[in-house]
Amino acid sequence: MATLSPMLRVEYPSLPKLAVLSDQEKINYKEKIKRLLKEKNAVLIAHYYTDPDVQALAEETGGYVGDSLEMARFGRDHDASTLIISGVRFMGETAKILTPNKKVLMPSLEATCSLDVGCPIELFSQFCDEHPDRTVVVYANTSAAVKARADWVVTSSIALEIVDHLDSEGKKLIWGPDRHLGNYIKDKTQADILMWQGDCIVHDEFKAQALREMKALNPGAAVLVHPESPKNVIELADIVGSTSQLISAAKSLTNKTLIVATDKGIFYKMQQACTEKELLAAPTAGNGATCRSCAQCPWMAMNSLKAIFNALNNAKGHNIDVDPSVAKGAMISLDRMLSFAAEHQLKTKGNA
Ligand code: SF4
Repeated sequence: MATLSPMLRVEYPSLPKLAVLSDQEKINYKEKIKRLLKEKNAVLIAHYYTDPDVQALAEETGGYVGDSLEMARFGRDHDASTLIISGVRFMGETAKILTPNKKVLMPSLEATCSLDVGCPIELFSQFCDEHPDRTVVVYANTSAAVKARADWVVTSSIALEIVDHLDSEGKKLIWGPDRHLGNYIKDKTQADILMWQGDCIVHDEFKAQALREMKALNPGAAVLVHPESPKNVIELADIVGSTSQLISAAKSLTNKTLIVATDKGIFYKMQQACTEKELLAAPTAGNGATCRSCAQCPWMAMNSLKAIFNALNNAKGHNIDVDPSVAKGAMISLDRMLSFAAEHQLKTKGNA
């Protein structure tokens, strides 16, 4: 009988009380950030879930908006000597792992992720040690140390194919940390998986009954769901996919209205991809709702214009470093995924 990992009690912060900037203050911060980006030979790289103002500024200044792996790859291939990674801590770490020779700054080192916090290296490592016969597969939303402990790192875009491949080789697996994504993959592949019990504070809150009611009110709408959501929400989806896959689907679907179950920050790029469509946020309210996030990641929200300015203006307390031996171990697990993707001509885009 398989043992399950303990369900860790993760203390979630309330949404940070960010100063609401006036239009003029936003303009001032943007101008100062643009000047500093040039002065410091830096590039702004933002995740899909950050504030639309931040995503727009990244695009306007020749930076990038994407998922964690693409953010890290863009930074690695860009000429800038400093990367400012607007996202959460594991994204800064991944950028540093791929580009150890560059300075990697983050608007806030406090910006983390419930999947990362809920999968501390000591406990996860102990869990893996208890099952030495199992191959360890972890999601990109983990610390560098957890990545280094794993055999494989996967993104949500390629997780199914890799688990299917490992299963076909007769391997028994440990999956961590997201239990919803893990269970979705387990259902699809029938692989023998021992599950770590983490979840994403944002996706865990989507509510199936309220979504059914929203669908009934919008009969022509398609439902797009990120697989970090609960199973009964995924079951209502027309499309299940990673952030990049959901944006592509939004573009190609013929439905005029789309109900989207992922962080609302994605609406900025999704609306760019389909200007004529109406996007509705899937409900986090309804029976049992606590609305800890209301479809907005509290850690992503820490990437304010002011915080970006501070990081660029004074590098103290914003610098990301990864122990070289940990980075080396994490790179091995990341490289397995990248080689598999290249060999099978698959895309790796897509984390939270
Ligand atoms: S949205 Fe969820 S998975 Fe993404 S950073 Fe926030 S807590 Fe982590």
